[in-house]
Amino acid sequence: MHTPPITIIGAGLSGTLLAICLAQKGFNVTVYERRADMRLEHIPAGRSINLALSSRGIHALKQIGLEQQMVAIALPMHERCIHTIGNAPVHAAYSGRQGEYINSISRSELNIALLNEANKYSNITIHFNHTCTQVQVAAGIATFTHNHTTITASNSIIIGTDGAGSALRNAFEVQVPGFTHTQDILPHGYKELNIPPLPNGDFALSKSALHIWPRGSYMCIALPNPSGDFTVTLFLSKQDSTPSFEQLSNPEAITQFFTTQFPEIAQHIPNLVEQYLANPVGQLGTLLCAPYHYKGQCLLLGDAAHAIVPFYGQGMNCSFEDVMVLSQLINDYGTDFTTIFELYTSLRKPNCDAIAQLAIDNFYEMRDATANPTFQLKRQVETKLEQLYPNYYSKYSMVTFRHNVPYNVARDKGRAQDDVLMQYCSTKHNLADVDLDQVHNLLLQLK
Ligand code: FAD
Repeated sequence: MHTPPITIIGAGLSGTLLAICLAQKGFNVTVYERRADMRLEHIPAGRSINLALSSRGIHALKQIGLEQQMVAIALPMHERCIHTIGNAPVHAAYSGRQGEYINSISRSELNIALLNEANKYSNITIHFNHTCTQVQVAAGIATFTHNHTTITASNSIIIGTDGAGSALRNAFEVQVPGFTHTQDILPHGYKELNIPPLPNGDFALSKSALHIWPRGSYMCIALPNPSGDFTVTLFLSKQDSTPSFEQLSNPEAITQFFTTQFPEIAQHIPNLVEQYLANPVGQLGTLLCAPYHYKGQCLLLGDAAHAIVPFYGQGMNCSFEDVMVLSQLINDYGTDFTTIFELYTSLRKPNCDAIAQLAIDNFYEMRDATANPTFQLKRQVETKLEQLYPNYYSKYSMVTFRHNVPYNVARDKGRAQDDVLMQYCSTKHNLADVDLDQVHNLLLQLK
């Protein structure tokens, strides 16, 4: 079988995993990455330091033989821990089933581990400090700049994994008839902070939970790191609302905001104001496009095709699933990239759109509904149902723990289940009032 050379734009999470996957199949892969080699660089603070790795991502890593070593650098998070002002934290398991949890993993450690793995393949070449500036889509020519010189890659299949600002996607927009692209920027931005370990080295909060401080129109979350610290992310309106990042611009306002709204966080971060002022505000948005391919020549994959808001913790997991779907299609169709890319778009588009919508839904759920007693009861009922009925999976479980349930099925079935459960729970006060068999029967009636 003649295997055409592959050019990958971007050595981020999906680009590096894809390179390894294709190299294992015997392709010669050249990866061009805009940034310097992160193994040699200081990684700046404040940029999405840790991520939640779950079943879809783990399944993809497993297929490529990397599951164990990547999970070894992650910390399990078994539950949500919800902090409301003046009340004891409420713990809510992510699943009623044993062994189902999400994993906090350092983005840079994961990327570095993937780069180290890629280095083991003689048929992968990675060029750092190479920025893709242009792609001639039909001709299959990509142009890169490196130290003010121009380098061209031609006669290869081009796969763009160059994130939300993708050069390949920009080229599709101009050169591919019928290509559509929408970008919806959220009025909220995010800022990361760090809760250090306690003086004795212990974690300042429970280390087996993802912590949420829901406050209506804004919230904080915190994920533990193996080094004993937590990465906190504040999601808040950028401007034109109270409070907003624009308003929190001086030490007094920042201190006042955290001590009244997030006292636990303020208590555990001695240099809160310094961190707050030093770290940037990141942008959040949903980017959808179609088709993901041009003939058998070029393909968009990962955030380049579908950047989503981070509230379901699925952007990377979905991108790793992209790699798996492409891998399976290559197994089935060899080097017939025209068929492979066409099928890839038709298989991935409905699912990537679905997780984009679910991620927006979860924004409202996390910042708002998690503090609502009806929602909290619903989560308890869901956990019980999962313990008692092998055929019941909550929407969260379908998205997060069932890699064999497509995202669009999880969305449709999960939303219908949520409606039934919220309505039922709104008439009850606590778990003892709930007739679980009756609820299960109601859910079975859904299509
Ligand atoms: P990226 O990781 O963005 O990689 C793209 C690469 O391309 C980068 O290395 C970049 O330098 C390079 N590049 C860009 N332009 C060019 C160019 N012109 N030429 C050459 N190279 C270029 N996902 C989860 O699954 N779980 C989570 O808990 C989670 N939390 C998140 C929290 C936040 C705050 C954010 C912002 C995102 C989160 N995500 C999460 C999403 C996740 O980070 C992304 O979905 C994932 O990084 C996508 O990987 P990627 O390889 O497609 O893109």
